[in-house]
Amino acid sequence: MDSKTLYARAQQLMPGGVNSPLRACRYVNSEPVFIDRAAGAYLWDVEGRQYIDYVLSWGPMLLGHCDPEVAEAVYVAVNKGTSYGAPCEGEVSLAEEITKLIPSMEMMRMVSSGTEATMSALRLARGYTGRDKVVKFIGNYHGHNDAFLAAAGSAAQAVPGTPGVPDDIVKHTLLAHYNDLEAVKAHFKESGDEIACVIVEPAAGNMGLVLPEDGFLQGLRDLCTKHGALLIFDEVITGFRVSLGGAQQRYGITPDLTTLGKIIGGGFPVGCYGGKKEIMEHMAPCGGVFQAGTLSGNPVAMAAGLATLKVLQKRDYDALEARTREFATALTGILKDKGQAVTLNHIASAFTIYFSEVPVTNMAESSACNGDLYATFWKQMQAQGINLAPAGFECAFTSFVHTDEDLEKTLEAARNVTF
Ligand code: PMP
Repeated sequence: MDSKTLYARAQQLMPGGVNSPLRACRYVNSEPVFIDRAAGAYLWDVEGRQYIDYVLSWGPMLLGHCDPEVAEAVYVAVNKGTSYGAPCEGEVSLAEEITKLIPSMEMMRMVSSGTEATMSALRLARGYTGRDKVVKFIGNYHGHNDAFLAAAGSAAQAVPGTPGVPDDIVKHTLLAHYNDLEAVKAHFKESGDEIACVIVEPAAGNMGLVLPEDGFLQGLRDLCTKHGALLIFDEVITGFRVSLGGAQQRYGITPDLTTLGKIIGGGFPVGCYGGKKEIMEHMAPCGGVFQAGTLSGNPVAMAAGLATLKVLQKRDYDALEARTREFATALTGILKDKGQAVTLNHIASAFTIYFSEVPVTNMAESSACNGDLYATFWKQMQAQGINLAPAGFECAFTSFVHTDEDLEKTLEAARNVTF
């Protein structure tokens, strides 16, 4: 069945025909293609068209789709049963691997999505400190928990008033622009002893890629320490992408709590939050802060995550970073040659090319970018078999299996685009 027919059926059954809003492709005035299968750096739609994939399931597939070692681990796990609702070895092994690579996560909890991870980390921070307020950055996205749906990034920016989220809840969410340490200082000055935590994407990926300016993360660390608040790094995107030890290793800043998702599930629904043992032991059944999950620590998902982390340790992050930088710079150059004002943000295997004349360091600058030009670019790239995020305020990701030929084909497609 073709995408058009499937989309018509889907629209009868799901709002916008999708199970997650961005997939509807409305920011690029288009309609979704339905995917039939994926392998390596490629997707194939239901009509058999092949795409070079730079969305990679919004981040998880850093090894590419269907990595053979991950797939093998999943087959083995599936044949041992798909869910026990009881402890299993896989969850211990995955936690051991995570704490080895991200030592600040001395103790952790597996959950089933990034949303659950950040929601639970916030509850823990509140329970641990006995305070209610959270500082959040405009344009950072931490999933769809009520407290974080205030000036959120990604598709959540489509609902500015965020219907359904009580004012009584978001009144505890204090906002600041990303990279604006002074604004955070002002919040601490005004209500320092009420702030439970500061949550931040240590390199932001939901207003496009926006990097922390020098001193920003250290400044947050210092303010939290001074005022007895917890610093939460939301590493759902950056974890295992910007380095094996995440953004915290790359920038040398240790948070109190970390949230993970995406890559640690190897394509399965997994999230995780963790940090200092002394803080984590406030979770039930050790402590009074409650969180639970029927499918938490699911054996198949744990096997996929563990295999992913093991394979990643055999890959060359520096080489991928260098190739991605070269590729993203070339792509930016092609657009410039066509007379477009564009600016590139890049780290490791993630980048965003903004249709903007000025550097992008926060949400205001990201929002000012030209969405129509992005849509024009996106549509013509998609028509040539290049899958980019269907919105200009997202990251593009490369994987360890994108070949030089894939990257060159992508550049060739960009050369053919007309504005
Ligand atoms: N935090 C960040 C930084 C994210 O990018 C996302 C999802 N894109 C989430 C949390 C929420 O994760 P999930 O979609 O798995 O609930």
